[in-house]
Amino acid sequence: GGLLEQIRFKNNKFVREQSVVHALNGVSLDIGRGKTVSVVGESGCGKSTLARCVIRLYEPNGGQIIYDGKRIDNLSHKHMAPYRTRMQMVFQDPYSSLNPRMSVAQILEEPIRFHNRSYTAGDVTDKVAEVMQQVGIDPLWRKRFPHEFSGGQRQRIAIARALAVDPEFIVADEPIAALDVSIQAQVLNLLMDLQQERGLTYMFISHDLSVVEHISNEVAVMYLGTLCEFAETENLYSNPRHPYTRALLSAIPQFGQKGFQHLRLQGDVPTPIDLPSGCVFHGRCPYADKRCRTEMPIIRRLDCGSQVACHGVEEGRI
Ligand code: SF4
Ligand code: MG
Repeated sequence: GGLLEQIRFKNNKFVREQSVVHALNGVSLDIGRGKTVSVVGESGCGKSTLARCVIRLYEPNGGQIIYDGKRIDNLSHKHMAPYRTRMQMVFQDPYSSLNPRMSVAQILEEPIRFHNRSYTAGDVTDKVAEVMQQVGIDPLWRKRFPHEFSGGQRQRIAIARALAVDPEFIVADEPIAALDVSIQAQVLNLLMDLQQERGLTYMFISHDLSVVEHISNEVAVMYLGTLCEFAETENLYSNPRHPYTRALLSAIPQFGQKGFQHLRLQGDVPTPIDLPSGCVFHGRCPYADKRCRTEMPIIRRLDCGSQVACHGVEEGRI
């Protein structure tokens, strides 16, 4: 069965400086155990908010999250505690996510001790060495501080910190976006190797469809807090259905040769404070009609298995 059987958000609003930000609405997806689901969209589409709500770094206020058969979105702090170690997050920026005053050993010892109360000092030292080795950092460097490492090495240390509590689910929010292009593939490969070795389940957040193709089982495309399309990777890249997915793919040269009809976006991303009525994408969609401007499309499963929220696709005119 799925590890995250149901992540469902409706009318999830955050109040920010007296305005209501409609962060997540019409988002529903599940993630199978040992699988990678990538969530992709332009900045401001709500993908980071979704990631943080799923592991409850943010409190979702209109939704439901079922994790390993249990509803967790409404758990108290105390009852959420056991889940906090089962799910971990890796952040985009390895410069700000590691405390500069702590050595690598200190950074890793803290979660190891917290998770394994019965460990002796020797056990903790062994575990530090083990996770450092697993991410490709020499355990002899345990006394070094974050500034003594490169960006890629820091991200490896951040991944080691996530592994220190033996999680089963990792949310990685743009984990390679801040790194040099030359080392991005190494960090991606490390994440994939760790998934194999440990049977990890990933939610991978990215703004770039070209990055996630080879690492994902399924891809979710989001726009303005709404899920547009959720499909198996092969389907999404060879037969994108939602106009927004097609526009994102059209912008990537390597997909230029594929058979789908290309699409160029009009206008800019609107603000999430005053969401457009109807389909949130209608202001930029060349297929928008009257129904699109008034009625929000509901996500539906097509015969090909892809789930798409679009009136035009549903009516067979796209
Ligand atoms: Fe375009 Fe209408 Fe589909 Fe929205 S529902 S993507 S506006 S065709
Ligand atoms: Mg973000």
